[in-house]
Amino acid sequence: ARSNLAAIDAAHHLHPFSDMKKLNADGARIIQRGEGVYIWDAKGKKYLDGFAGLWCVNIGYGRHEIADAVARQMKELPYYNTFFGTTTTPATLLSEKVVSHAGPHLNHVFFTASGSEANDTWFRMARVYWAAVGKPSKKIVIARKNGYHGSTVAGASLGGMKYMHEQGDLPIPGIVHIDQPYWYGEGGDLSPDEFGLKVARQLEEKIDELGEENVAAFVAEPVQGAGGVIIPPNTYWPEIQRICKARNILLVADEVICGFGRLGEWFGHQHFGVEPDLAPVAKGLSSGYLPVGGVLVSDRVADVLINDVGDFNHGFTYSGHPVCATAALENLRILEDERLVERVRDNIGPYFARAWGALGDHDLVGEAVSIGLMGALQLAADKKTRMRFEKPDAVGALVRNHALANGLVLRATGDRMLASPPLVITHEEVDEMIRITRIALDSAWRELKS
Ligand code: PLP
Repeated sequence: ARSNLAAIDAAHHLHPFSDMKKLNADGARIIQRGEGVYIWDAKGKKYLDGFAGLWCVNIGYGRHEIADAVARQMKELPYYNTFFGTTTTPATLLSEKVVSHAGPHLNHVFFTASGSEANDTWFRMARVYWAAVGKPSKKIVIARKNGYHGSTVAGASLGGMKYMHEQGDLPIPGIVHIDQPYWYGEGGDLSPDEFGLKVARQLEEKIDELGEENVAAFVAEPVQGAGGVIIPPNTYWPEIQRICKARNILLVADEVICGFGRLGEWFGHQHFGVEPDLAPVAKGLSSGYLPVGGVLVSDRVADVLINDVGDFNHGFTYSGHPVCATAALENLRILEDERLVERVRDNIGPYFARAWGALGDHDLVGEAVSIGLMGALQLAADKKTRMRFEKPDAVGALVRNHALANGLVLRATGDRMLASPPLVITHEEVDEMIRITRIALDSAWRELKS
């Protein structure tokens, strides 16, 4: 019998990224409670959340310190804005704290409520920057196929998801896409390193084609997340950095997923030794406890914004929201005090890499890769030839559904299974994740072969 809540949901609630007809027929899964790496649904079924919500609950569920800090702030000052020369204590303290962990040239932040808004924000900021330094023709942004930068008009345009572009006639003018460094799927006979260089050099070719004087920026996720945990070959990022410097275009690292410890460094750009000019953040900034995002801004851009532009005519009612900023501050305190980022780098990340990597021996798995606490399993019909299944989405969904039935949340992007557990996951919980993933792979394999 369907619960009353599921019936109400089917009648009134339009869901993001869901097959709504199917969802309404099945009834939405209602998640009611979370503790550590576990969540419970309304029927009392327990799941290990191998996806940390949407790549965001880095400190795990149920941290009452955040609830308490938020309640105190809520009572003292539930809202004030950061427009027209005002601020609040939490917003200002957060600005100092968040940049303290980023690369040495990122010393400023512009707050938003989400990662999508953060991407819209730097998109305008980059154009404003070039206009202010006397190069107003530098407007085009180069992004990547299969990248994800949010769901607003600019965010979805910057993203390279075909199925998003098809809805609403995107991308908007002034945004073009080059290939992603997806060696398994697109590398052909090249070695990963050769392929990394080849796709990085597409940036240079695209700049030549468009004219350097017309290009504002290049944006990419340090590791492409929603696109399938696409970990770039080692040659990729150094070449991208070289090209951006040589051609004088801004480098934007979308840190919405990679930021705040996911790769075992505070930010993905640090892992790859890259120095971005702008870096949108969100998700792990508050571990998802409240909506907070922002753009980390380098001295190069901030100096122009402050001294030449002066008034950047842009902002959100919730930019620097004091209650959300309080949640973020408390989240960063927990990440620092419990050394959770270092734990990913030195302890649980290497452990996860071994355990997850061992799934590569499964018949259904073409490659099992990970970086920090972010992993992907490439499903393959023939692992020797890298041949894929005819209906990749269906195979991914099959594995995901078997995992769910056995109490594990994984995400499927086409035929890649994605994992991104909370950073607090224990060794035993990693073992449990792997055990259930193997059961799901076995069950799917049996069905596919029958
Ligand atoms: N950028 C990246 C890399 C993301 O993964 C996401 C969300 O998944 C976004 C931007 C958009 O963030 P939000 O959903 O908070 O708008």
